[in-house]
Amino acid sequence: MLKTEALVMNKKAVMLLSGGLDSSVALKLILDQGIEVTAVNFRSPFCCCNRKNGCGNEALRLSKELGIPLKMIRVDREYIEMIRNPRYGYGKRMNPCLDCRIFMHTKAAEYMESIGATFLITGEVLGQRPMSQRRDAMNLIDRETGLKGRILRPLSAQVLKPTLPEQQGIVDRDRLLAITGRGRKKQMALAEAFSISDYPCPAGGCLLTDANFAVKLKDLFDHQDTYEMAEIRLLRTGRHLRIAPDLKAVIGRNEQENIRIESLAKTCYPLFIPRDFTGPIGAAAGKMDERARDVIPRILLRYGRSEGPGTVVLHMNGSEEILTAVAPLTEEELARYRIRA
Ligand code: SF4
Repeated sequence: MLKTEALVMNKKAVMLLSGGLDSSVALKLILDQGIEVTAVNFRSPFCCCNRKNGCGNEALRLSKELGIPLKMIRVDREYIEMIRNPRYGYGKRMNPCLDCRIFMHTKAAEYMESIGATFLITGEVLGQRPMSQRRDAMNLIDRETGLKGRILRPLSAQVLKPTLPEQQGIVDRDRLLAITGRGRKKQMALAEAFSISDYPCPAGGCLLTDANFAVKLKDLFDHQDTYEMAEIRLLRTGRHLRIAPDLKAVIGRNEQENIRIESLAKTCYPLFIPRDFTGPIGAAAGKMDERARDVIPRILLRYGRSEGPGTVVLHMNGSEEILTAVAPLTEEELARYRIRA
């Protein structure tokens, strides 16, 4: 554990920047005090971001606008293992927000140390989120990360204990704020005063809070000890059907998903492609036995709205096999297999 009382603060800080309303306003408050800030933004497989929109792009835009460096930190296996076994449990779905915040703060702190910065800044607001932004949760994050006194939350600073940079006069506590609760009016007014207008919707969250996504991730954790990263990425795409404890099918819902399944699954799953009817692409995770060869082509017939019979090409281990499906899967069978909330 760091002996925080003995630490001498400097004017260098690292900010956990999502590019959303709160972190944007908190960043501006701190930059106005002459602090040299480097931003970090985390990219996880569960970000809601896509190529054009999302926190990574917002953080990039904001850091460019304010002229500060931005470090993108990609988190994958270590982060996923934390999600599989969270020490402090899940929120409503598969979101272990407390463990997640501890993880992100720890990674940001490692970066902070590596560049000679002495404290972290976040856009957290006391009482805004039920799991990770309560007073006891913030204290826990400070303790668990070994950063007690070194995490400055400018939006709520005046209702929290003074941090080391405040105590040592690096940051002027009187110019920080005392915002609490879920409302965003004060932050919006400040954003307007700072001419920050282009921030994303403050709803927040990540895919782990989404009921349909969470159930697919839980299914994967329940049935697989190991996984490829492509399998995690595939959870965003297609219909997922649990056919047996050791067999899952992923079926495209449109052209775009078919392309994505084909490109992601080829590294980890056998592919099923309709041969003489128009239908979706399917991929299979697990045991490729006779059952898989029977059921998955019938699923493709069902979603291809074909009465059958039809043939499907199974691409596996560099070879091709022609399979025949006589009739589509019934609604009852489908309902039994579907993985959904
Ligand atoms: S909503 Fe998702 S990204 Fe945000 S703290 Fe919770 S688990 Fe982490």
